[in-house]
Amino acid sequence: MGPVDPEILQHLRQPIADFLSLTVRILPPKPLPAQVYHVARDQHHSTQLLEYLLAVDDYQDFSRILGITAVDLYIPIFTFVFGEAQLDGKAAIISTFRPRQGPAGTSAPHSIFMTRLIKLSLHELGHTFGLPHCRQDGCLMGFDSNLEKLDQKNPKYCEYCRIMLDDYYTRNGFDQPLQRVKV
Ligand SMILES: [Zn+2]
Ligand SMILES: [Zn+2]
Repeated sequence: MGPVDPEILQHLRQPIADFLSLTVRILPPKPLPAQVYHVARDQHHSTQLLEYLLAVDDYQDFSRILGITAVDLYIPIFTFVFGEAQLDGKAAIISTFRPRQGPAGTSAPHSIFMTRLIKLSLHELGHTFGLPHCRQDGCLMGFDSNLEKLDQKNPKYCEYCRIMLDDYYTRNGFDQPLQRVKV
C-alpha cells in the first residue's frame, strides 16, 4: 500500500508461507488513500487504512490479505502502531516504518529489519486466525509497544498459541498441518 520495496515482499513471502502452511501471493501495489493521512501527526490512521484495504477489493480468491506500507501508522490512543488486524477476520496491515529504525537515528541492519517484519506479519496474521494477545514469555502473540520488545520475542508462537492455531485451522478447513519452521 503506497511505495514499498518489492524486495521486502519477496523476502516475506516464503517465511509466511512456510510458517503458516499457506500459499502466499504478492499482489500489485495499491495507492495510499489520502483521507487516512493525519496532517498534524504526520502519520496514517491504521484502522482507517485497514478498512480501506477491504473496501477497495473483496479479495474473494484469498482467505487472508496482509497490507504492507512504508508509512508510519497510528491509532489515537497510541504514539504509533506496528500494525493492526481484524481478530478472526480477513485483513491485517503492517508498517515497515518503525522496524527500519536502528539506534540513535541510524537504520537497522537488513537482517534485523527483515526479522522484525516477519515477526510482525506472523503476529498480525495470528490475530486474523483468532489469536488474542498472549502473555507467555517471548511468544509471537505478545503485545509489542516498542522495537526492543519486538526484538526480544521469539520468531514463533508459544505452545498454547500453536494449539489454538492448529484448532482454528481444523475448525475452518485449513487442512494442511502447520509446520514448525523457524525464521
Ligand atoms: Zn497484536
Ligand atoms: Zn502465545
